[in-house]
Amino acid sequence: MKRICITFFLLGFFISLSARNYFIAVNGNDSNSGTIDSPFATINKAQSLVEAGDTVYIRGGVYKVTEEQVMKYKNIWGLVFDLEKSGTKDKRICYFGYPKERPIFDMSAVRPTDKRVIAFYAKGSYLHFKNFEVIGTQVTIRTHTQSECFRNDGGNHNIYECLAMHDGMAIGFYLTQGANNLILNCDAYNNYDPVSDGGSGGNVDGFGGHPLNASSTGNVFRGCRSWYNSDDGFDLIRAHAPVTIDHCWAFLNGYKPQSNKPAADGNGFKAGGYGMLAEVKAPDTIPMHTVKYCLAYYNKNNGFYANHQLGGIAWYNNSGYKNSINFNMVNRKSAAEIVDVNGYGHTLKNNLSYEPRQRDKQIANVDLDKCNISNNSFLPNSMTVTDDDFVSLDASQLMLPRKADGSLPNIDFMKLKTKSKLYKAGLGFSARNNENIIK
Ligand code: CA
Ligand code: CA
Repeated sequence: MKRICITFFLLGFFISLSARNYFIAVNGNDSNSGTIDSPFATINKAQSLVEAGDTVYIRGGVYKVTEEQVMKYKNIWGLVFDLEKSGTKDKRICYFGYPKERPIFDMSAVRPTDKRVIAFYAKGSYLHFKNFEVIGTQVTIRTHTQSECFRNDGGNHNIYECLAMHDGMAIGFYLTQGANNLILNCDAYNNYDPVSDGGSGGNVDGFGGHPLNASSTGNVFRGCRSWYNSDDGFDLIRAHAPVTIDHCWAFLNGYKPQSNKPAADGNGFKAGGYGMLAEVKAPDTIPMHTVKYCLAYYNKNNGFYANHQLGGIAWYNNSGYKNSINFNMVNRKSAAEIVDVNGYGHTLKNNLSYEPRQRDKQIANVDLDKCNISNNSFLPNSMTVTDDDFVSLDASQLMLPRKADGSLPNIDFMKLKTKSKLYKAGLGFSARNNENIIK
């Protein structure tokens, strides 16, 4: 009896420890066993089997996702890959592009009538998505709508790493609920919706952080790039919890892909706001977002934008170049009073502005007496900035391939020469993390 108990104990112990790997491949079949030599065809099959600690390896190639694969229709949404299983702190569920391969999910054939499309929908927690791309996500609704490549809707502690969402009609990444999620080293580009709202493209941001409740704290965008999205690069409108954007680049947003044709809002970092309508309720406590070590170049409208926020935003070590306005701090007067006022409550330190497209608009709409401002290239004292302060002003470097580990490429663009007084002052996105200064 004792031996049987020990056997069962060891068996249980073994099963709980044995993280499984499943494989999917473009030439796979869902009736296979899911090993590397007998791979499945779909995420759907793999995720029906995964448990905490398991990894789904996605082999390289283009996966032509079909409308039959939509896992759930819920209200106005079609959730293509409905990922509601959770890992645990020590045993994540991982969906990884196979090392040294780069799988692509082509969503262009998923066109459910009158439904918004969400390609990867994460309600589960402790998930880790890494190393794959989502292209061609569709919009079919002609009135006001949006589709999304990824939505985090309730999952906590998820990691979205080294993903690319591009050449579709959808927002790249969108967070509505969930705490302590990390969006790391992801790219969103060439996204424009020509179908809804007469083709204005007004909802297609690269990245959206819009936590609906005050408990959705600790969400961070880090090392992400956003370009040629028809609305904004990064958008934090209607957030009920503070979000951090760190070491991210936003450029050429607000234009139709690969063109100089203007599309919608076109802000690099839209870091707040609740709109200017009385019926939209702002939270009782206005979250203070942080935007640091970020770079905004040639967005159609503002580089760094407070967007009528009802309080301050922390802006540290950001660089703005050739945006229409580089730093626009405009706030709304109060929840009750829907009028614009010069920005209050902002912290602005170690920021660098050069050659905004509107003359002298290094910074606009700021109330100096009601902000904590020091050591920027602009207010309260202005430093002279010239081409000669920078190692390079060649913006094409922004689109260079990422490093092998997925991190941002090393660039000289907007990097300060060590002899520059701006360098010595520790300004801009390329300064080394100087937390001692920015406190
Ligand atoms: Ca918009
Ligand atoms: Ca937007």
